[in-house]
Amino acid sequence: MFSLAQHKYLPTLHHHQPCTNRPSLHAVRVSCSTRPSDPTPNVKHLIIKPRLSPPLPVAATTTATTRPTDNDPSLISDWSHRAWTTAGCTIILYTLAQSMNGANNLQTQVALVFAAFAGYITADLITGIYHWGLDNYGDESTPVFGPAIDNFQEHHKWPWVITKRQFARNLHALARSVTLIALPVDLIFHDPVLLGFMGWCLGCVMMSRQFHSWAHYPKSRLPKVVVALQDAGVLVGRSMHAEHHRPPYVTNYCIVSGVWNPVLDRFKFFEAMEKILYRMFGVRPRCWDDPAANGWLEENDEQEASHIKA
Ligand SMILES: [Zn+2]
Ligand SMILES: [Zn+2]
Repeated sequence: MFSLAQHKYLPTLHHHQPCTNRPSLHAVRVSCSTRPSDPTPNVKHLIIKPRLSPPLPVAATTTATTRPTDNDPSLISDWSHRAWTTAGCTIILYTLAQSMNGANNLQTQVALVFAAFAGYITADLITGIYHWGLDNYGDESTPVFGPAIDNFQEHHKWPWVITKRQFARNLHALARSVTLIALPVDLIFHDPVLLGFMGWCLGCVMMSRQFHSWAHYPKSRLPKVVVALQDAGVLVGRSMHAEHHRPPYVTNYCIVSGVWNPVLDRFKFFEAMEKILYRMFGVRPRCWDDPAANGWLEENDEQEASHIKA
């Protein structure tokens, strides 16, 4: 699912040393000039010339290395973002309508309620696993997931940015995935319970980016209904998600309701997955490294608050 190559374990290296793009002392050329008849080296002719290698190239899409401004183009929606978001919302509403349309007896209607609840609960787990994977493996060059990985890395450096991103810009990538998954299922299957489960599950997964964004807003800037849903645990809460952005950055990955977070964290589910992947493929998750090396040390609270208030 993820491209894991760049964290290959190299046993002779110090893994907590951050990689940098600074010029490195690549080679040192030393030349000594001595007269054959004079056993004492002429230190005046000892020349040490450092040879600097050029800086490593920085990829063009390094949003995670450049602090976005408030009006940064990366925060603004364009027509393609709006089109995919519209398509995602439409297909979800169509799926749910088809589901309800097919529930023409009490037994199916009851099953539909359970299917909707199961879809909502499952979505929280999916977002947790997805978020954990993007936080820890691959990079911006990873096929398919590269932009999302870059986006999550940027989020860990500047969490406030998500509150500045326009709705369609925030949702379009998940909306596109949801559309491409739901459309063929809608065409092939007509079971109302299955469609109900899928509609709620994919709908919550798609909206998880918005729920995540709301978890970074100050309470005073959120609609009252959102605050009520957060406080009731229906949507992921602000304080629960804040724990994800504090050291050691390895908890509270789920971002729909967060109902799975205490369970997964208590049983160290992600820690176990990281060890299994390491044993199988020799790859280290990013969270095993110094957070400073990943640039995950959050801006201080005052800076964060000033950005959110602005
Ligand atoms: Zn994260
Ligand atoms: Zn966050």
